[in-house]
Amino acid sequence: MISEACYELGSKSSVIREIFAFGLKRKEEIGADNVYDFSLGNPSIPAPASVRKAILELLERPAEELHAYSPASGDGKVRKVIAESLNRRFGESFTAEHIFMTCGAAASLNICIKALVNPGDEVIVFAPFFPEYRCWVEAAGAKLQVVQPRLSDFRIDFHALEELLGPKTKAVIVNSPNNPSGVVYPPEDIRRLADLLKEKSGEYGAPIYLIADEPYREIVYDGTEVPYLTRYYRDTLVCYSYSKSLSLPGERIGYIVIPGRLTEYGRVSPAIAGAARVLGFVCAPVLFQQVAAMCVEDTGDISAYKKNRDLLVKGLSEIGYSCIAPQGAFYLFMKALEPDACAFCERAKKYDLLLVPSDDFGCPGYVRIAYCVAEKTIVNSMPAFQRLMEEYR
Ligand code: PLP
Repeated sequence: MISEACYELGSKSSVIREIFAFGLKRKEEIGADNVYDFSLGNPSIPAPASVRKAILELLERPAEELHAYSPASGDGKVRKVIAESLNRRFGESFTAEHIFMTCGAAASLNICIKALVNPGDEVIVFAPFFPEYRCWVEAAGAKLQVVQPRLSDFRIDFHALEELLGPKTKAVIVNSPNNPSGVVYPPEDIRRLADLLKEKSGEYGAPIYLIADEPYREIVYDGTEVPYLTRYYRDTLVCYSYSKSLSLPGERIGYIVIPGRLTEYGRVSPAIAGAARVLGFVCAPVLFQQVAAMCVEDTGDISAYKKNRDLLVKGLSEIGYSCIAPQGAFYLFMKALEPDACAFCERAKKYDLLLVPSDDFGCPGYVRIAYCVAEKTIVNSMPAFQRLMEEYR
């Protein structure tokens, strides 16, 4: 008998992947320009020139040095460079010891969850949430608890959160800028969240951890501030990834911040190392550890995303769609024109509009539009959105 849970996960592909596969088939049939594929969060801007320069420079190093194992937690010098950059940018006091290099945010989150929870514990997430959280939390034997958003602006509904917080709550995951809503939680929400978690940790006699999932930290518009969560709450772990900021999703590189001020630092830090060991996420890709250090404060040119966002919000609003105004990431969350978002997405497919229904994000009735696409895809898709709207009039 094999693992039923893994069989279940592997035998049905995610809705996003199914839509993407449908798109590939349609592109072959009618040409790529005629398919408006908004399904995947694959960065559409190139990695900055500094990445290519760093790789070429690194290739000059002796192969036996370049491709060798690093320590499990990553190269000490790389971790120091990253810690110093965080200290400069966020007024922190991290050292190399507080940074654990990983294979992207997926690995970072898996490690943190595995390190913190025991079977029967609960992990709270805020809808709409990245669907993989459910797999990772359940694989660690914990239960996922979902807080529904305040529907007027998709920020945190603190009453709903308080109802779910309890003695079994081990961690709360915050993803800001958010996939799929594009919302950035403002400092007042983070302050209120920190106060509440502090109060509840005291009440239950054990820390409730805050896990910050931050692959989109640098992708924000109009000068929006993204609070750095370790500045607000003592028991915070940060999961960072270069997948989106440097447009390197295929290279699997990121890190976890384990601040020295954690209440149980002496136990959490080894548990992170242990979880990485159990899961096999040790010694993150070494070439890209070096690239990360050499490009530590670089990002791709995100002006193309901003242009896409503005075109999309304006175009869809003029047609009559209702959208959540995105302040960051490269997703737009739009209300479906019928309660069943899956049925709405099926109708959209008739116009070769590929949208992702929100059900797996824990917030039914909406669709996610990934606007990390060519500008012409947005411009050319507007008549299709118009015809889709007309079906419902
Ligand atoms: N968390 C969120 C919210 C994401 O959107 C993604 C990827 O799209 C991840 C985590 C995983 O990112 P990575 O490619 O760094 O594993």
